[in-house]
Amino acid sequence: TKVLLTGGSGFIAAHILEQLLAKGHTVVTTVRSEDKAQNIREAYPDKASSGELKVVIVPDIAKLDAFDEVVKEPGLEVVLHTASPFHFKFKDPKTELIDPAVNGTTGILKAIARSAPTVRRVVITSSFAAILDENKITDPNHTFSEASWNPVTIDDIHRNPATAYRASKTLAEKAAWDFVRDPANNVKFDLATINPPMVFGPVVHHLASLSSINTSNERIVDLLQGKWKEGVPSTGAATIWIDVRDVARAHIRAGLEVPEAGGKRLFTTAGTFSNSEIAEKVRKNFPEYGDKLPEGEALKSGELPPDDQRFKVDNKATNELLKIDFISVEQMVVDTVKSLKEHGA
Ligand code: NDP
Repeated sequence: TKVLLTGGSGFIAAHILEQLLAKGHTVVTTVRSEDKAQNIREAYPDKASSGELKVVIVPDIAKLDAFDEVVKEPGLEVVLHTASPFHFKFKDPKTELIDPAVNGTTGILKAIARSAPTVRRVVITSSFAAILDENKITDPNHTFSEASWNPVTIDDIHRNPATAYRASKTLAEKAAWDFVRDPANNVKFDLATINPPMVFGPVVHHLASLSSINTSNERIVDLLQGKWKEGVPSTGAATIWIDVRDVARAHIRAGLEVPEAGGKRLFTTAGTFSNSEIAEKVRKNFPEYGDKLPEGEALKSGELPPDDQRFKVDNKATNELLKIDFISVEQMVVDTVKSLKEHGA
């Protein structure tokens, strides 16, 4: 199958790329710059020279015509759109988060509808951020499912960085469903979204240094560097997670392997986690980090909130469709720490 994968330099996309190529698919992937393109070609020299892997530069996904040319690649069947900002280092949430998220999504859908008649399915990497409701996340009587939508609006983006990021994911996903449902757009493909919560796991993308670690793995780097020794940071209220390899697998299942995924929001999660659980699994499996790790009282602050202060999840529909056997917290910790060690942690 010939697949277009956007944002190939990213943490999640690099795993999707690895799995697609291992399964013998042909991939065209986009990145923002020539040096990022070169890193990917160097990771797969044989695939790059055989033409099974092509890397194309799309510098600015906030431009509505950004993807107009790349979608003209002949014979594309599936598009996996992962590129979207996930960091909290922005000054202006509108131009740095919302525009690339929303315009990137509508721009690629518009380009496919116009110029890529062979595409049958588009999968967009959305998020649990587009499902949750900040006012219900501590409510034990509230269940989040594939049908739940974050009520956040564009007026909320200056509240704090996390809310701005959640708005970018929510508005982008809404724009995608609105686009495919509008008969005026003459859409011939179907859409699925993958809505993962916190994603942890080993790094396979090119990492210039540990300080450029992707946002969701930052906490594991902090832990290994001793920053949690005196007290584990609060896990926060969004206490569910999934391993990056399972997220990648979900994209491939939804995009290429499960026809019934069309039209579905897929709420993929392996269940709950806490920062303290991560710290304990590191101590158990990597005694060499012993003096940098928290223990005893220092673990208390990062424990899972009690059941009566936590939302519930119903994602049966997703699990029945995708049938993924989720990687455990312990396995994730072991593989992530091994991978971070290779990068100097
Ligand atoms: P990364 O930061 O590693 O990847 C983000 C990708 O998007 C990179 O390829 C990045 O390019 C690209 N990108 C970001 N901003 C822009 C922009 N303005 N213009 C062009 N490209 C851009 O994070 P993840 O791999 O974690 O994120 C991938 C997707 O998964 C995102 O859509 C994110 O919202 C979603 N997600 C992530 C979760 C997590 O916990 N990690 C949870 C739920 C959803 P570059 O490499 O050049 O920076």
